[in-house]
Amino acid sequence: MTTWHASVLTIHPAMFPGPLGQALAGRALDSGLWQLDVVDIREFGLGRHRAVDDTPAGGGPGMVMRADVMAAAIDAALEQGPARPRILLSPRGRPLHQAQVRDWSKGPGLMLVCGRFEGVDERVIAGRDLEEVSIGDFVLSGGEVAALAVLDACVRLLPGVMGAEASHAEESFEAGLLEYPHYTRPQDWDGHRIPDVLLSGDHARVAAWRQARAEAATQARRPDLWARYQAETGNKSASDIDKGKSLK
Ligand code: SAH
Repeated sequence: MTTWHASVLTIHPAMFPGPLGQALAGRALDSGLWQLDVVDIREFGLGRHRAVDDTPAGGGPGMVMRADVMAAAIDAALEQGPARPRILLSPRGRPLHQAQVRDWSKGPGLMLVCGRFEGVDERVIAGRDLEEVSIGDFVLSGGEVAALAVLDACVRLLPGVMGAEASHAEESFEAGLLEYPHYTRPQDWDGHRIPDVLLSGDHARVAAWRQARAEAATQARRPDLWARYQAETGNKSASDIDKGKSLK
């Protein structure tokens, strides 16, 4: 198996591997299940100050990352590994979803370009075929934290990273629903008991309860996911599914 290959382009290389050097992802990095190259965009900067940014055309506040500098850094990174999706982290990008993460985790890896300041010159996005991806409808100060989030989500899905704990199938989003709630010992905590059904040992009842709770949580918290789920499952509600089970 070839190693899943991540390249990150940033003006803050010291931010990597950061949290990805710890825990699950860190152990996987140490054991070679994935590889991380960090390209310091500043090395491709111009002049004595290695400038990577300039003032926005048309005026306005802030600075913009230069197309020529970004292209040089991207071209250097492209030489380091196999052809991979080229991502620009951007609040203007397509919102990231688990299905996309799963797809990327199967591939050869990712190239992730981290913006700073007001963002990057529009011409380099088309010129180097960058796919813009957002991790949510909020604004970060730079793409680095977003790149760490994308990598964390991909790396945990790589074969061998989660080992026997792997329970991807039931997780939030995998079935189009938020996950059911979890409980563990003590059975009684602060006057709150674990729901009886979970202690019943009846696997079918536990499964039906979890399905119903997953549906209820999705309906209450994420009407957008719930509408899609209903369309895909033919408008069955949790209670219909329960009825179906008890009839069998
Ligand atoms: N002026 C821009 C925001 C720039 S934030 C705008 O209004 O759209 C600086 C950098 O942080 C961006 O270039 C991007 O790389 C990163 N960033 C900020 N928010 C992000 C998000 N929600 N998802 C992914 N990257 C983000």
